[in-house]
Amino acid sequence: MSAPSRRVFRFAPSPNGYLHLGHAFSALMNFNLAREGGGRFLLRIEDIDRARSKPEYEAAIYEDLAWLGLDWERPVRRQSEHFSDYAEALERLDALGLLYPCDCTRGDIARHALRAFSSEVGTGSREENTIRHDSNDQPPDPDGALLYPGTCRAKERSPAREILSKGGVALRLDMGAALKLAPANLTWNEFGAGAIPAQPERWGDVVLARKDTPASYHLAVVVDDALQGVTDVVRGEDLFHATGLHRLLQHLLGLPVPDYRHHRLLRDTEGDKLSKSRMSRTLRDLRAEGAAPAEVRAMTGLR
Ligand code: GLU
Repeated sequence: MSAPSRRVFRFAPSPNGYLHLGHAFSALMNFNLAREGGGRFLLRIEDIDRARSKPEYEAAIYEDLAWLGLDWERPVRRQSEHFSDYAEALERLDALGLLYPCDCTRGDIARHALRAFSSEVGTGSREENTIRHDSNDQPPDPDGALLYPGTCRAKERSPAREILSKGGVALRLDMGAALKLAPANLTWNEFGAGAIPAQPERWGDVVLARKDTPASYHLAVVVDDALQGVTDVVRGEDLFHATGLHRLLQHLLGLPVPDYRHHRLLRDTEGDKLSKSRMSRTLRDLRAEGAAPAEVRAMTGLR
């Protein structure tokens, strides 16, 4: 009989600020779940956004987590060291004809979104691969941003690698075309809730790469989770809807699908004024104020 495979958990902070209690909660939850089930706990540095990532924040992540009493497997995966993995994923999507270049500014998008969606009211006609929108009351994507109106979708599609090397251009996923390659009933398994419908169309034609950022968070996270053999993605509920998009990318790239558990955000915690203000403090501030690691763990409600 083969031994049951070990579950693999990860904590994946972005080094663009100091860790606060919310991060400690997420990291501890992953660490505890791994430890209790005899699983593995990985740390991943999500420094794909080179403009926002700073070495001092990365150093602080290691220091603060160790101070809190966490231990993780080495080597740590740093996204900035694996650009070729993301390029390979982009090439696969490109080979499926799912990427197109876009040079729209935010202003262009706002203007075109208004125009595109109001003209659809009159004619009722849509390009075949246009995502269905409620034209009068166009809902934003789950992060609250305008859905991309598809202005550049019909542009000539040269290979992704060539497009990115030209600079100043983003690569978008042709969502309409991507949906045709996926089953309509794509779901993920959410802890405690079962199968959740993915609904990736809510994100529209998302940006998957830019010249200065070789992969968007969405692309990098699914590639990394697969390459690291992550079986359980445990993260904040602010990423719940993003999982629907991740699920589509996994399908298109033929990647394994982890189980998901989206936990509440610690800032939702009820409490008096003092404990609320302490909740928004960074771990280093709390340490500087003399808090002990056990006290900080207790503040998260976890051991
Ligand atoms: N890097 C993301 C963040 O710091 C977390 C991504 C994830 O857990 O999937 O918010």
